[in-house]
Amino acid sequence: MPTTTEVEHLLRTAALRVTRPRVAVLTAVHDHPHADTDSLIGFVRDDLADVSKQAVYDVLRALTAAGLVRRIEPSGSVARYESRVADNHHHVVCRTCGAIADVDCAVGYTPCLTASDDHGFSIDEAEVVYWGLCPACSTTPSS
Ligand SMILES: [Zn+2]
Ligand SMILES: [Zn+2]
Repeated sequence: MPTTTEVEHLLRTAALRVTRPRVAVLTAVHDHPHADTDSLIGFVRDDLADVSKQAVYDVLRALTAAGLVRRIEPSGSVARYESRVADNHHHVVCRTCGAIADVDCAVGYTPCLTASDDHGFSIDEAEVVYWGLCPACSTTPSS
C-alpha cells in the first residue's frame, strides 16, 4: 500500500498536478484492486467526505489517460480500476458474483495467443479474460 508521499510522487511523475481528490482516488485504487466506480466513490468519501461523483469520474479518467491506473471492463460488467499497470496481466472473472482476480501472463505453449493469421498487423498484445466460478460461488449449491 503506497503512502501519501508515494502517491504524490506517482502523480508528479505522470505530470499530473497533486490534488486531494487525485491522491484519494489513486490511493483507493491501490488499496482496492478491481473496484468499480461506485465502490471507489465510497472509499474516497471515507477520506474526503465532500467529493462529488463527477469529480471521482474525472479523476479516474485523468489517471487512466496518464497510465497510472488501468481500466478493465469484462463484458457484462461495469468498469473496474486497478493500479497494477506495469504488466499486461489477465483477469479471471466469476460469472456469478463478478469477483475478479489477477492472472499473470500465460507461460509456455500458448497457441491461441499466436494469431493464426496476423493480417499483416504487428501484434503486441492479446487480451484474455478467463471466465468461471470463484471458490465461494462454486461451493454454493445453486437453488
Ligand atoms: Zn463468485
Ligand atoms: Zn488486475
